[in-house]
Amino acid sequence: RAYNFNAGPAALPLEVLERAQAEFVDFRESGMSIMEMSHRSDIYESVHNEAQNRLLGLLGNPSGYKVLFVQGGASTQFAMIPMNFAQEGKQANYVKTGSWANKAIKEAKLLGQVHIAASTEQEQYMRVPELSELQLSEQPAYLHMTSNETIEGTQFKQFPDTGSVPLICDMSSDILSRPFDLNAFSMVYAGAQKNLGPSGVTVLLVREEIIESSPSHLPTMLRYDTHSGNNSLYNTPPSFGIYMINEVLKWIEEHGGLQGVEAMNRKKAALIYNAIDSSEGFYRGCVAAGSRSDMNVTFRLGSEELEKAFAKASEQEGFIGLKGHRSVGGMRASIYNAVPYESCKALVEFMHDFKAKNQ
Ligand code: PLP
Repeated sequence: RAYNFNAGPAALPLEVLERAQAEFVDFRESGMSIMEMSHRSDIYESVHNEAQNRLLGLLGNPSGYKVLFVQGGASTQFAMIPMNFAQEGKQANYVKTGSWANKAIKEAKLLGQVHIAASTEQEQYMRVPELSELQLSEQPAYLHMTSNETIEGTQFKQFPDTGSVPLICDMSSDILSRPFDLNAFSMVYAGAQKNLGPSGVTVLLVREEIIESSPSHLPTMLRYDTHSGNNSLYNTPPSFGIYMINEVLKWIEEHGGLQGVEAMNRKKAALIYNAIDSSEGFYRGCVAAGSRSDMNVTFRLGSEELEKAFAKASEQEGFIGLKGHRSVGGMRASIYNAVPYESCKALVEFMHDFKAKNQ
């Protein structure tokens, strides 16, 4: 297996791929693949419902939430959220933490009034704001946050208590990497392709009471109540992706649930950050202590030439996806749930060797 540090689509657990391979052609003795099955069949629906129940189970079965599976990526949610929840005379509040928050803000501005509750733009987004820096507008429709900025490599370690103001969070790049209290959120959403499964499914966890507030003029597919009222089966769902999510959720259960994966993730991140911090300046972490992401480790070397040489040498040694996003440069190791500790150990050994040869 490759040492896969891709930012997304990203590594899936080998056990999940092998299980899927074993039942790929003949699913549960039906004589067909799950991909070939009607989404109205009992077998498919049981997988669909199993995935929803498993996800809520991993989050401690909080009451009053629906799990929805939709398409269009997290990017479509950037528009659907203001379409469904922005209100006349109220402001959509956003925390401006980097590239993905900015994409969400851009859509919200097309659709209504936006208030920036906090921003770290002045610091090139190299930290997340303290919760005490958040300043909501007078009449907030909701507050939107990005828990993990995949490109910059920052991550919130805590979330605010917004009282009666709905808190909505894009968790695309760190969902299920650690426990979180779903009760603090009115909606959490994530494109599946980092921690949950293959691309093509977007997972939403939505509090039932806010689903009912969609304005009546919205087109059918862009309303949350359509998907909620039809158990995400209004139209043909991305059935293979949902099946894979169910398998990934089983894998998380088998690895100690969210506490178990968090412990693994912390160990992996600490190993790489330690290699950066103990390199006497050869590698430099981009992000302020306290805001460093356990999912996307971003770092720089002394010059762009050296970074290019690092990227090239790492590829030659079988490391995939270490080049930083084109918008920010530098290096990035994405170490989602499915990236094994052994891959991180191999990366750290490569970093030591590269330093010894190039300092
Ligand atoms: N939000 C975050 C934090 C992301 O990392 C990404 C994708 O990388 C997106 C949103 C966009 O997701 P999608 O490609 O599913 O639209």
